[in-house]
Amino acid sequence: MKKFLRFSVASMLSLLIMLPSFVNGAQVHRVSRGETLFTIATNYGITLNELINQNGYLRNHNNISAGQVVIIPQKKEANIYVVGEGDSLFKISQNLGVSVTDLAKENNITDVNRLSVGEKLKVPNGVIRPTKSGASTGEYIVKNGDSLFNIAQQFGVTVAALGEANNLGDWNFLYVGQILKIPTAPTQRTQQPEASFKETTASLVSMYPNTFFIKGASNTNKIALTFDDGPNQKYTNEVLDVLKQYNVPATFFVMGARVDHHPEIINRIVREGHVIGNHTWNHPDLRRVSQESLVNEINQTEDSIYKITGLRTALMRPPYGAVTRESIEGLIKEEYKIINWSVDSIDWRDQDVGQILINTLPDVRQGRILLFHDGGGEGQSHAATVASLPEIIQTLKYQGYEFVTVDELLNIPAYK
Ligand code: ZN
Repeated sequence: MKKFLRFSVASMLSLLIMLPSFVNGAQVHRVSRGETLFTIATNYGITLNELINQNGYLRNHNNISAGQVVIIPQKKEANIYVVGEGDSLFKISQNLGVSVTDLAKENNITDVNRLSVGEKLKVPNGVIRPTKSGASTGEYIVKNGDSLFNIAQQFGVTVAALGEANNLGDWNFLYVGQILKIPTAPTQRTQQPEASFKETTASLVSMYPNTFFIKGASNTNKIALTFDDGPNQKYTNEVLDVLKQYNVPATFFVMGARVDHHPEIINRIVREGHVIGNHTWNHPDLRRVSQESLVNEINQTEDSIYKITGLRTALMRPPYGAVTRESIEGLIKEEYKIINWSVDSIDWRDQDVGQILINTLPDVRQGRILLFHDGGGEGQSHAATVASLPEIIQTLKYQGYEFVTVDELLNIPAYK
């Protein structure tokens, strides 16, 4: 049985209007017994490769389990060519600018001389320009003569970041009309005027490889769940309930201003085997504060956690993931490791279970750090975050991932 995620009309509309990421039209499929990736792909009218490419977290393509989730990419509009009078495969391939071999292969044609008028041929991907006329926000359509290098330069990102954002295996292979996702430094809640800051997350990570982390080793099956902006009376406890049920440890980056109000939650986090990290007192953008207030933000929060737990955390996550060289240097003096993320659930924006799964799973790989929120603005719901966790945990456990705290993933101490 296929189960489709059902969005209400209202939420569907708001997603379409608000969320560029939804434009890719992916959907969630919950696997039933007896299904294989191949049968799922066939049922959705996509190829096995398209399905596998969308689900980079799948480690064992032959072993998917009932109860796990698979993300279905939007079915590509098939480019169809209808064979006309006097057409030959050779002529068609010349018109389309594709090789006879590729055209024959795409259509399982064994005898290239046998074509009938009215026959519909599938045109291989990438041959015809995409039907959409422009790129969505954060996207770029490859033009003739482009290279990954000149595109990266144009957008002020690194070639590596661009390659990674698009899962490009071969960086030299781009085709005209290909749509590339343009990576940005992680953003959260507020728009960041990126242009005014020279360093990207990627460049800072390479500048400070022993201090600034976004992921662990890729040769491990370990991954780490992280939760920011708590503690929150309702949602932190609900997250902890789910983690307990599935016996999964996580790392909580807490805000000092909230710690004092919820000492019992802080204690519960530690008691249940999770790790606590520092997320500043008041959530300022560290690129815009003085060194003095940075130190205050960090130390006040550290002291608060210490008073309750007797532990001095050595992990910190900058609000919005935003740091400068100067703030990193300041944090090094305070003996902190800086932990950003490599998988963003965007759960503070997309408060919808299906969309959180779509935002998250395709980006999961070995060693990655996943970002969620158990706290946020006044009155903000994190119900979708809580509800998405069992599916994310189950799916990734079925695929052989092991959940660990960030310190274990990175092999660094959690506390001073
Ligand atoms: Zn935060």
